[in-house]
Amino acid sequence: MPGIHVVGDLLPPPSLGLAHTSFAEGQVVAETLAGLRPTPVDYTAVPRVTYSSPQTATVGLTEAQARALGHEPAVRAMPLTALAKGMVHGRGGMVKVVAEAGGGRVLGVHLVGPQVSELIAEAQLIVGWDAEPADVARHVHPHPTLSEAVGEVFLTLAGRRLHQR
Ligand SMILES: Cc1cc2nc3c(=O)[nH]c(=O)nc-3n(C[C@H](O)[C@H](O)[C@H](O)COP(=O)(O)OP(=O)(O)OC[C@H]3O[C@@H](n4cnc5c(N)ncnc54)[C@H](O)[C@@H]3O)c2cc1C
Repeated sequence: MPGIHVVGDLLPPPSLGLAHTSFAEGQVVAETLAGLRPTPVDYTAVPRVTYSSPQTATVGLTEAQARALGHEPAVRAMPLTALAKGMVHGRGGMVKVVAEAGGGRVLGVHLVGPQVSELIAEAQLIVGWDAEPADVARHVHPHPTLSEAVGEVFLTLAGRRLHQR
């Protein structure tokens, strides 16, 4: 109805029924009422986290979703335990990246493992900014961190490798 604005859990998909999407939707409504022209929420680049043990954190398309949309994706994965910090945690986990074949844009990043909710912010910028693996691969990640595994998957997708077998 004209003049009625809805945010949060009242919205149907593609809204995600999450606190952070609700905040963002509230900001869009507030800025609209203030006479501004806010950018609508881009749900494809919103992270979804499960705060379990281990955690899961995901942004963008899964491999199955990418195929269903007609992509022939390049998919690479790396166990967190291939790197020093993952060995220190000793709790498994992995990073999986779905990208357009031939070095095209990154479609999705998916993580499982200890505290991976802290790694998803990098991935959301990669997906949200339509970055390609080569854009990410040239950035050096700090050692020893779990974020190295994120960097190394993109290195592999860009045709290079460090610890990845
Ligand atoms: C157990 C649980 C855990 C969750 N964990 C997470 C999480 O970890 N991360 C995450 O992103 N999301 C999480 N969510 C989802 C998140 O809480 C919701 O998506 C978000 O709060 C929705 O915001 P909202 O403003 O639509 O509704 P709400 O936050 O529910 O706000 C609605 C408000 O309206 C009030 N209200 C209801 N009826 C009336 C009335 N008649 N008159 C006046 N006031 C009224 C309520 O008291 C409430 O304060 C979780 C949800 C649940 C239930």
